[in-house]
Amino acid sequence: MQPPRFIGSEIYRGSSYGARHPLSIPRVPTVIDLCRAMGWLPSAQYINSPRAKSDALTGWHTQAYIAALKEAERTGHVTPETRARHHLGTLSNPVFPEMFRRPATAAGGSLLATDLIAEGGAVYNPGGGTHHGMADHAAGFCYLNDPVLALKALLAQGLTRIAYVDIDAHHCDGVAAAFHGEERVLMISTHEARRWPFTGALDDRAGGHAINLPLPRGTNDSGFAMALHEVMLPKLQAMRPEAVVLQCGADAVAEDPLSRLALSNNAHWQAVALLQPLSPRLLVLGGGGYNPWMVGRLWSGVWATLNGYEIPDRLPERARSVLAALTWTRRPAFPPDALIDTLRDAPREGAIADDLRAAIHTLRARQAAWV
Ligand SMILES: [Zn+2]
Repeated sequence: MQPPRFIGSEIYRGSSYGARHPLSIPRVPTVIDLCRAMGWLPSAQYINSPRAKSDALTGWHTQAYIAALKEAERTGHVTPETRARHHLGTLSNPVFPEMFRRPATAAGGSLLATDLIAEGGAVYNPGGGTHHGMADHAAGFCYLNDPVLALKALLAQGLTRIAYVDIDAHHCDGVAAAFHGEERVLMISTHEARRWPFTGALDDRAGGHAINLPLPRGTNDSGFAMALHEVMLPKLQAMRPEAVVLQCGADAVAEDPLSRLALSNNAHWQAVALLQPLSPRLLVLGGGGYNPWMVGRLWSGVWATLNGYEIPDRLPERARSVLAALTWTRRPAFPPDALIDTLRDAPREGAIADDLRAAIHTLRARQAAWV
């Protein structure tokens, strides 16, 4: 079988959402540079992401929305009507020079990935994972919804057992909206409880058999491992998915400024390692992640995990210098040495909150009732 492939693009290096936006930080470029510095990204495994054409995007998005998005990029501004209907030109989804081309590149990457894994294999598109995009409007920093487009493409291949697993700190409301009641797509989402977008409650099954597990504030590696081993893995093992799409948002770690979860990157890497053998086809996407050092380290470790590379305790100087060159407008502007010297965080194990145990128990009981 082909080795895993990495889909990237230089467009992520040359654009941001604006200096004051949480996505002003480099993320995909850091992963590319770090993985190259580690010798983990030979050119044979790297694919330059194509940009999705409008026709491909209207597989989920409305033509009016795509036209409005392109027009906003072309003119550099939006009308009050466009802002009201399509939520463009807002604080979370601002007008910026690549506001169509950049998300269309992420979407093109995820669509290409579904072709690449049609006969099996694993593909990583860290620029993807924009799970809040809605059919007719932008939301939550997402302009397009590449996970939805990828899942629809996998359905179009004739697959009937597809798992979408989302471990971002925020609920995947756009994906949930697209596949409400769709029995061929099993959605499993862990996300911080009582956080925007405030969907994905424990009892929300998205019209079918979706699993939503809200994680209490402060959930650590031990709590996540319990969710992984007692809910996610048994469900996936029973399902025997033909394809897994994993949204691996990096914002559930303790250092992230936009959530109050307390995972270490070991939690994400363990999820990748344990999900990979469960399906012949795997597409791993990025997602949230707003601390530049944490995102770069976590997502580089995802690529190492997919390839079975050993992650050294101390980074070689070339890789260190990639992390040392990053700056941040938030505090701390410069991180502790551990975020520059290593990829792996210290594990954050500890007590598991009673309400998380109760939620996992509820989901286990629900699964047992289906068997
Ligand atoms: Zn998020």
